[in-house]
Amino acid sequence: AMESSGGGEDCCVKVAVHVRPLIGDEKLQGCKDCVSVVSGKPQVQIGSHSFTFDHVYGSSASPSSSMFEECVSPLVDGLFQGYNATVLAYGQTGSGKTYTMGTGYRDGYQTGITPQVMNALFSKIEMLKHEIEFQLHVSFIEILKEEVWDLLDLSSVSKSETANGHAGKVTVPGKPPIQIRETSNGVITLAGSTEVGVNSLKEMAACLEQGSFSRATGSTNMNNQSSRSHAIFTITLEQIRKHVLSQPGVSSPTDDMSEEYLCAKLHLVDLAGSERAKRTGSDGLRFKEGVHINRGLLALGNVISALGDEKKRKEGAHVPYRDSKLTRLLQDSLGGNSRTVMIACISPADINVEETLNTLKYANRAR
Ligand code: ADP
Ligand code: MG
Repeated sequence: AMESSGGGEDCCVKVAVHVRPLIGDEKLQGCKDCVSVVSGKPQVQIGSHSFTFDHVYGSSASPSSSMFEECVSPLVDGLFQGYNATVLAYGQTGSGKTYTMGTGYRDGYQTGITPQVMNALFSKIEMLKHEIEFQLHVSFIEILKEEVWDLLDLSSVSKSETANGHAGKVTVPGKPPIQIRETSNGVITLAGSTEVGVNSLKEMAACLEQGSFSRATGSTNMNNQSSRSHAIFTITLEQIRKHVLSQPGVSSPTDDMSEEYLCAKLHLVDLAGSERAKRTGSDGLRFKEGVHINRGLLALGNVISALGDEKKRKEGAHVPYRDSKLTRLLQDSLGGNSRTVMIACISPADINVEETLNTLKYANRAR
């Protein structure tokens, strides 16, 4: 079956697939590679199933190293023009989402998307800083069971919880989760989240490292909850562009300057494991968790699919942003003038074939 649909050049949502190599554990189990990438085409084949996307990475024909340039670099450029953007990594636990995003604690840090975004951002700022004044802020939050938690909140850090000299997060009783708000002009804000002002690549990298450490070690991580939560690293770029309007011979430049203010944000999202989208436990608690994770990934699928359907979009169809915290938080950065890239991460191992097909079907809906 050839499974491909619409998704033209002007579509605001691009979908890429990242196939990771077989990893040690899979090799030890004697797994076979069941995913093939059609050479010269952004197409993956699994048995008789064939899927076409905007890009496919992971084979020697299309190495992951071009992923940043092709998929993410245009979004970083767009930030400087005032366009919001979102990069999402989707896939089952172990498929390479955190590795791809580079938001893990140390793991994948050098090759992942987030460090490359930071490099590109700061080299652009370096080039433009004489004409433009920049201000950068980052936040790093986690959505678990439909609640938003701050990964950069130092007040919820206990030094006694340290490992290797790093602080670990503990729950502060009574500390309320972050509230998602919308301003009158449609800007989504997070009331009560830590927004860290950063002046250098080093400072931004420190925030990434601190938050990913909190995520990996914090109290919300009991029972490996990082696979159940969505992690969102957000970079906000504010610019004040100074245009010198003075004509030759006019001698007071300060009077003749007009200022242009732009603000845009980029969300880098490491989604919850997609296997949670359907798996539910028999006990009430796990069922609730399943339902909640289900809600974010389900709503995201519906939002992206509504955005990708040009016909529906032109008819002004309802986009169900309010169905989950995840889609509500990303509302001003998904659709409209903003740019979105979804990276579907898959394992090539035959034991994962069922989840891999589910991931490709989900991603295919987004096109
Ligand atoms: P997820 O976040 O989806 O649960 P991870 O990013 O933690 O998955 O990846 C699972 C394992 O696979 C990790 O050990 C990681 O280092 C490895 N891995 C993932 N993607 C790649 C890749 N493209 N190349 C090499 N190893 C990878
Ligand atoms: Mg992960």
